[in-house]
Amino acid sequence: MGEDLCKILITEDEISSRLDELAAAIDRDYEGKEILVLGILKGAVMVMADLARKMHTPLTMDWMAVSSYGSGTKSSGVVRILKDLETDLEGKHVLIVEDIIDSGLTLSWLKANLESRGPASVEIATLLRKPDATTVDIHVEYVGFDIPNEFVVGYGLDYAEKYRNLPFVGTLAPHVYGG
Ligand code: 5GP
Ligand code: MG
Ligand code: MG
Repeated sequence: MGEDLCKILITEDEISSRLDELAAAIDRDYEGKEILVLGILKGAVMVMADLARKMHTPLTMDWMAVSSYGSGTKSSGVVRILKDLETDLEGKHVLIVEDIIDSGLTLSWLKANLESRGPASVEIATLLRKPDATTVDIHVEYVGFDIPNEFVVGYGLDYAEKYRNLPFVGTLAPHVYGG
């Protein structure tokens, strides 16, 4: 799992510093409130764990798992809930935590779905955002890094379920895809 397989795009330190900034911004914005932080499985596990530990706002955590149908690597915007929340959202301030936004279709579906459940507010925090995301009409309040249109792994993100445990975000060498 060295640099022969994976080129580092964002280091562990860079992720940590950026999450410090996001946590500070979130604490400022939600002062006097309580947040339901909603992690999207499985990719957001690392961001959730690190971001939540940097936050001081009182919070509860819940998790959802969704799968977006699509051809190949592109999502279609048709989303299926694999694991739903266990929390009633009525009157809650919901902060969705995501690993990466590519087309934005998954999140735009999810945000609408959550908004129909009567929350006080729904905002989005994502560690990474790809260029295509800016073409979809979805407001993302907290963005860690805008990255180029490359397939990345690590820090929660997988290729065929592997590499989620890398402490950094990297791009895979082409020979990995070739097997
Ligand atoms: P979209 O925003 O296109 O609806 O879908 C976002 C989802 O696609 C992410 O939650 C993630 O699971 C997957 N995804 C998009 N880009 C990448 C990438 O570069 N690497 C990995 N590992 N997953 C990605
Ligand atoms: Mg995700
Ligand atoms: Mg994946």
